[in-house]
Amino acid sequence: MATGDIHRKILQRFEALYRAGIRVWPRPQVVEPSRFPASEPSAGTVISPPSHQTGPMAQPLGQEALAGRAGSQVPIATEPMPMHRRACPTGQGNEPSREDLLRELAEQVAACQRCPALVPYRTQTVFGMGNPRAELAFIGEAPGADEDRLGKPFVGRAGQLLTDMITRGMGMRREEVYICNILRCRPPNNRTPTAEEAGNCRPWLDATLSVIQPRYICCLGATAAKYLLQTDQPIGRLRGKVWEYGAAKVVCTYHPAFLLRSPNMKKEAWEDLKLLLRTMGRPIPGRAS
Ligand code: SF4
Repeated sequence: MATGDIHRKILQRFEALYRAGIRVWPRPQVVEPSRFPASEPSAGTVISPPSHQTGPMAQPLGQEALAGRAGSQVPIATEPMPMHRRACPTGQGNEPSREDLLRELAEQVAACQRCPALVPYRTQTVFGMGNPRAELAFIGEAPGADEDRLGKPFVGRAGQLLTDMITRGMGMRREEVYICNILRCRPPNNRTPTAEEAGNCRPWLDATLSVIQPRYICCLGATAAKYLLQTDQPIGRLRGKVWEYGAAKVVCTYHPAFLLRSPNMKKEAWEDLKLLLRTMGRPIPGRAS
């Protein structure tokens, strides 16, 4: 299929998603902790954004809206979204597959130059991998050295632990889920992504998730939780609750790299996986249902 045809099919696909009421890719509904009741919800409570943010045409939260929040602000990417803001074609016809859409997105990401501190040092971009129809998506922080070399997310020691969490912990196969990161380029020396870099890469993340449409998302670590949910709350306060990103339910846990450094925290991570399984309506392995 010619590039122009793929492009047209992608636009048609996004138009179809829009007609179906899926309009979360510009910006997810934002969880605003300060609007929640003062008391802490119990573990497993589903936390929804305030009603004024839940309409199908909920607007992106801009810098002004974030200005009143405590702590550092998360910048909103100012560049156009990769595809959805272009004029939608009116033609119908065969829609592109999710594989086509992700392939097109990955090609665009490979040419991305938005982060001047990252582009010169990357070997390649690391888009994401897994089931394009995954019910569950894992989101980590950024590629490391192994990921940068191989072009795939979570392939080093942390990746092996994530695989164990998925297979031995949750009783699923890694091929069933989708795995990606907040950033698609490795930060030098594996430093934490800056807020600006996370904002730059956010449109790619939103577009990817709008194609896959996972019903459940697991944030791996504080950076993933901070930039997906746009909150400054520490990971310790985000764990044990169910958050929302658009229509997807979100559970936060520790990053596998942190668990490798702090194996005593694996028990806490297992509690998070059990919450995730309960939220998904899946049995907890090793426990009689
Ligand atoms: S991290 Fe994301 S936004 Fe920044 S250069 Fe890489 S692909 Fe582009």
